[in-house]
Amino acid sequence: MLLRRALRRAGAVRRCREKSSSPKEDPFHNRATAMNFEEGEGWLQRLVGTTGRTTTEFERYKAAAKAAVKTDAGLKSGDELLFAGEDGDWLKKLESSSEARQPRTPKVTKTARTTRRLEAISKFSLTPRELKARLDTYVIGQDEAKKALAVALTDHFQHARRVLADPAQHLDEPYHKRNVLLLGPSGVGKTALLRAARLAVDAPLVAADATAFSATGYVGRDASDVAAQLVTAADGDRDLASFGVVCVDEVDKLRSRSEGNEVGKLDVQSSLLKLVEDAEIDLDERGSGGAADPKRARLLNPDSTFDNLFSTKHVLFVFCGAFTDLAENDRVTPDDLVEAGLIRELVGRLPVRVRLDALTADDLASILAASGPASPLTQIRGEMAAYGVDVDFSDCAIQAWAERAFAERTGARGLATAVEDTLRGFKYELPGSGRDSLRVTADLVADPRGALARLLS
Ligand code: ADP
Repeated sequence: MLLRRALRRAGAVRRCREKSSSPKEDPFHNRATAMNFEEGEGWLQRLVGTTGRTTTEFERYKAAAKAAVKTDAGLKSGDELLFAGEDGDWLKKLESSSEARQPRTPKVTKTARTTRRLEAISKFSLTPRELKARLDTYVIGQDEAKKALAVALTDHFQHARRVLADPAQHLDEPYHKRNVLLLGPSGVGKTALLRAARLAVDAPLVAADATAFSATGYVGRDASDVAAQLVTAADGDRDLASFGVVCVDEVDKLRSRSEGNEVGKLDVQSSLLKLVEDAEIDLDERGSGGAADPKRARLLNPDSTFDNLFSTKHVLFVFCGAFTDLAENDRVTPDDLVEAGLIRELVGRLPVRVRLDALTADDLASILAASGPASPLTQIRGEMAAYGVDVDFSDCAIQAWAERAFAERTGARGLATAVEDTLRGFKYELPGSGRDSLRVTADLVADPRGALARLLS
């Protein structure tokens, strides 16, 4: 609530509704107002608030209000705006109107859960080293990526913490986001790192697939979907969503290296620029018409709130992509990425770039041998323990699975499948069989059916 008010004070959307007559009694007022906007009344900072009467008028208001930029005639952050009557003084600064000063009921009442999550961010105190240690539990190896991500995320949440502590002071300050680009082949832990980060910090985190973005860009539906997803991940709380993390996967599918039919991809890249930096997305503009369209619903119901812009200014973006053909240099330079088909402006907005290594068979074995949740074997042990069966795995069995998964060339993705394929029969037969242990050896991995038949005979 505090932040919401500060957001509004600091220049976000203000809304004052005219206590006005019905449309029939005042047919010209809104039109005059819209025209004034269009003539460039320079002192209006932002305004989305009207008793809009028709779709056309409303759209003109919106477009004009969005176009109006600066305050230079005594209007300052914190002033409330009001549509006045027909006396020509059509837009006033409200100094003392109690109606305008009263905080509006927020759309979402903070629940105990969102309050707790916001508080957790307000008290964020992990060091990069501590955060990396949490990532270590879920992702084996990839140390450079874990360190880079740990630093970027701790910077992000420290920033969030500062803003939450004093929004009026910090909300509008310039902030250079440490958006991240994780490069590396499929199945090496890029997404797993973010999942692990979400467990370490209970902040809203959403994953979007770059190929789903439309060329119409952030104004279009897809990008606003990201914002809406973030709000959903924040249990509807926009304050919380403001400090979320968006992971955009498969960014290398947006690469363009030739003219012609690849132009659409370049458009999508360009459209992401604003989203990544600071886009204001009208969450009510989602939907394509019809009775369920929230915009229409709002027009039909002037009492609904217009205060619905969501800013991505404080949202951290993590882009992931394979870029397998990039030279395996230690440092990925902007030139490398531009050469590989990303536009320079997008590269410039992703200052933290780090490569994840392809996983060797030994790396895969280390993942299986890990004692915690990073290993698929931990889950198998738990599942069988539920039936009183104690399973243990020999080093050679682990190595055999690692080599099989390595041959699939899908990174660690192949591990769970290899293990599952081998053990399916045992997981079916052993529960309730009276047996209380199973030792998994390389021979069993090589011939699970034979081993099962021998065990049951
Ligand atoms: P990608 O790099 O394509 O995003 P993921 O992170 O989704 O791949 O990994 C696919 C699967 O492999 C996940 O189940 C993940 O937990 C596992 N995995 C990948 N890399 C590692 C790793 N380094 N340590 C532990 N598990 C990993």
